[in-house]
Amino acid sequence: MMKNQYNQPRKLLAVLAHPDDESFICGGTLAKYAAAGVDITLVSATRGEMGRRMGNPPYLNRETIAAAREIELRQACDSLGIRELMFFDIRDKTVEFHDEELLTARIAALIDEIDPDVMLTFHETLGGHPDHCAIGKAATAAFLQKERRGALYFITFGEAMERPERYGYSREDIMKIDVFAHLKAKLAAFRAHRCQSEIDEWVWLPDQDALTHFGRHEYFIKGAPNAKVADRHDLFPYEEKVAEDSAV
Ligand SMILES: [Zn+2]
Repeated sequence: MMKNQYNQPRKLLAVLAHPDDESFICGGTLAKYAAAGVDITLVSATRGEMGRRMGNPPYLNRETIAAAREIELRQACDSLGIRELMFFDIRDKTVEFHDEELLTARIAALIDEIDPDVMLTFHETLGGHPDHCAIGKAATAAFLQKERRGALYFITFGEAMERPERYGYSREDIMKIDVFAHLKAKLAAFRAHRCQSEIDEWVWLPDQDALTHFGRHEYFIKGAPNAKVADRHDLFPYEEKVAEDSAV
């Protein structure tokens, strides 16, 4: 189990926008660290109730989709090993219109309470969806407004960050996490988000075929310039010396 210098489990806080962001974008990494004993808290700003996909064939409507997506997200969390799930209950597709100061303060309070070793959120311009960018902007502001310990990273899509220079970054800014051993958990999480993934035929192929659709790595942009990153293949940068400390 990964422990910090106080011999407590390490903690990861992911502040995302919709049910499925955690699985579809960085599910392998979350499964990897959960399997290593990291205590993971996931915040979904919305319940994804405005999602265009309603099942295939559709079996949900605007009244039933929020509850269905919550159940699906809880199943995905079980698949990935995420222990704590919270909703901010902001209306889907309206995060950018939410009071930014209030949202930032809410996230800052959560960071103070959890005191994570690693925080994940969206990049405020490369997030891809207005809700993603808005929650990422607020979460980044919350993280940077105080001198916090720990490291902040932005989640990214697919293999885009194999060529970071296209986005104004260099290779040194990018974390590359090998999730190969955790792709089965990621696939299970995709399937848990049934109303979203049902229409993607590959998800429902036999495991060995479906798994070929995943890349071996997930990529993250370093979000805090002062993050003490020793190894670009591990989001948890601090090697602790628990045995030495406890021997004193
Ligand atoms: Zn999303």
